[in-house]
Amino acid sequence: MPGILFTNAAIFEGSENTLRPGEVVVEGNRILSVAAPNERLPRAGREVIDCSGATLMPGLINTHSHLTYNNGTTVRELTGMPVEEHVLFTMHNAKLALDMGFTALIGAASAKPRLDIVIRNEINAGKIPGPRLLAGSPELTVTGGLADDNQLNQQHPSISIICDGPHEFRKVTRMLIREGVDLIKFNNSGDSFCFPRMAGFHNPMTDDEVKAITETAQNVGKRIAAHAHADSSVRQCLKFGVEFIFHATFATDETIEALAAARHKHYVSPAIAARYNTTYEAAEWGITTDVAEMIGNKRELEEGIKVMRKMHSAGIKILPFGDYGFAWLPHGTESRDLEHFVNLFGFAPWEALRAATAYSGEAWAGDTGEKLGRVREGYLADLIVVDGNPLLDLSLLQDRHSLLAIMKDGVFHKRYQGRAVAEAC
Ligand SMILES: [Zn+2]
Repeated sequence: MPGILFTNAAIFEGSENTLRPGEVVVEGNRILSVAAPNERLPRAGREVIDCSGATLMPGLINTHSHLTYNNGTTVRELTGMPVEEHVLFTMHNAKLALDMGFTALIGAASAKPRLDIVIRNEINAGKIPGPRLLAGSPELTVTGGLADDNQLNQQHPSISIICDGPHEFRKVTRMLIREGVDLIKFNNSGDSFCFPRMAGFHNPMTDDEVKAITETAQNVGKRIAAHAHADSSVRQCLKFGVEFIFHATFATDETIEALAAARHKHYVSPAIAARYNTTYEAAEWGITTDVAEMIGNKRELEEGIKVMRKMHSAGIKILPFGDYGFAWLPHGTESRDLEHFVNLFGFAPWEALRAATAYSGEAWAGDTGEKLGRVREGYLADLIVVDGNPLLDLSLLQDRHSLLAIMKDGVFHKRYQGRAVAEAC
């Protein structure tokens, strides 16, 4: 196998605070070697790609993706599409994610039970383009919880499956595992998006219910995520080993301390665009900043920022990109989250990129032993070439024209395009 050699690249390894000039060889679906400083790797028989000083980095990884959310304006609307159209919509979003440099996703809830599953299967079979995908379940919720939008005599399908009591949660979890999900998602807090029914700082789920889900999923090696704004929600995630803690908005200092002590077992995904963009950029859809304040979204934003700053200082792994797929945070704009991490949480740009690559790669792999999210020997060859230095300008990643090449599993989704302006590195 001759392989591909990238030369004259500025390499972002995934976990370092600087770019270093160098060369990388990809053979099959893995990175075979990364040159030491000033080393020239053998060229014989290899396709040589001269990056002209462009940045070579790991593909982006979104650990809180909702490919099925249809850019709607309410939670209920997110699934308001016939299943046939919804399959195609999801398929197009999978390609869009890869077009935007995302080479792996974790499905963090699917608007209908089998959408993520069939799209994952088609991607894995090589029939449609898309990132590596772990298929998420719908949101498991209780009667009256987030994404139960019914009223007496008024049935409204939503993105959830409604269960009450451990028996029902166990049965639905088993059914979803039978259908083929990789990850079970449940809602153990309310949210401003279900105003006035249940606020984010309230937790409607009992320990017995959470235990029924986690035990059932963990027994057969499935991943677990929780929509967990409330302090008690985060506590439940710690108690029952929920790996992905979404939002964590109202975590107290004591809970942050407990999470820091268990930081090797959990990832926090604030999905802050669902707070920032909703508070400040959704007026066109009727959510002015005043409305955002009234429903509690602005408070979730402000508390979330304070908590993420503390968690960042405590060394807890906070991951970007969650909850895109609403009208004011549409699919394809996920990379803006990197700027939110810098502007709102005080991350250095390289830390935001580390979260989006090396840390998210660890998160994607879980305990499978797979290696992705870094430019290192033996890692999966999921790589992008960026026209410029993203450590100096993270917004480059929001522009598909800045992505000069996109490779997943050693195969180009977008072949190297050449730079607009060549630079020596
Ligand atoms: Zn979400």
